[in-house]
Amino acid sequence: MTELSTPTIGVLALQGDVREHLKALTDAGAQARPVRRPEELADVDGLVIPGGESTTMSKLAVAFGMLEPLRAFVRYAKPVYGTCAGMIMVADKLLDAREDQETLGGIDMIVRRNAFGRQNESFEAAVEVAGIPGGPVEGVFIRAPWVESVGAAVEVLATYGGHTVAVRQGNVLATSFHPELTGDHRVHALFVEMVRASAE
Ligand code: GLN
Repeated sequence: MTELSTPTIGVLALQGDVREHLKALTDAGAQARPVRRPEELADVDGLVIPGGESTTMSKLAVAFGMLEPLRAFVRYAKPVYGTCAGMIMVADKLLDAREDQETLGGIDMIVRRNAFGRQNESFEAAVEVAGIPGGPVEGVFIRAPWVESVGAAVEVLATYGGHTVAVRQGNVLATSFHPELTGDHRVHALFVEMVRASAE
């Protein structure tokens, strides 16, 4: 058996459920650490953008001088995984967002904020995710966005209720839901694999 490498994965720690992602990544075989400053970003092989509030996260990214370093991280094709607010952060375009809300971009998609929220603030549902073996994952949706449309280069990994809720484009992965809030770390394991493959 070949020894699996242990990649170092950061969790953007400006706002949101950072601790849960650090734990999920550690359980999935990564070295996980919070990232708040550009110097810290330079030291990680991949980055998770947590759930939380994307308008606040975007403002803090500007205030902490992180917006351009984060955009460069995505541009250099370093692996990034965004959950919920994190999905919003990696969208090229938004609907129902504030005029001045900044995103990093990375996935050629239009994401609608609070899309499920208007119908149902928060719910859980079984979601079948392409590339994740072993049956559906428990999707925790909290004022969740959905993907309204995607460009040709984007792979749709999961839908729920007719709406796209998980996507991947190259090294950027995004889910509307929060696998970090369940004990099931298969989505994080997929991301750890993406980071390993890219670090090699
Ligand atoms: N509705 C939030 C936003 O727009 C996302 C919610 C979440 O991350 N759970 O940022």
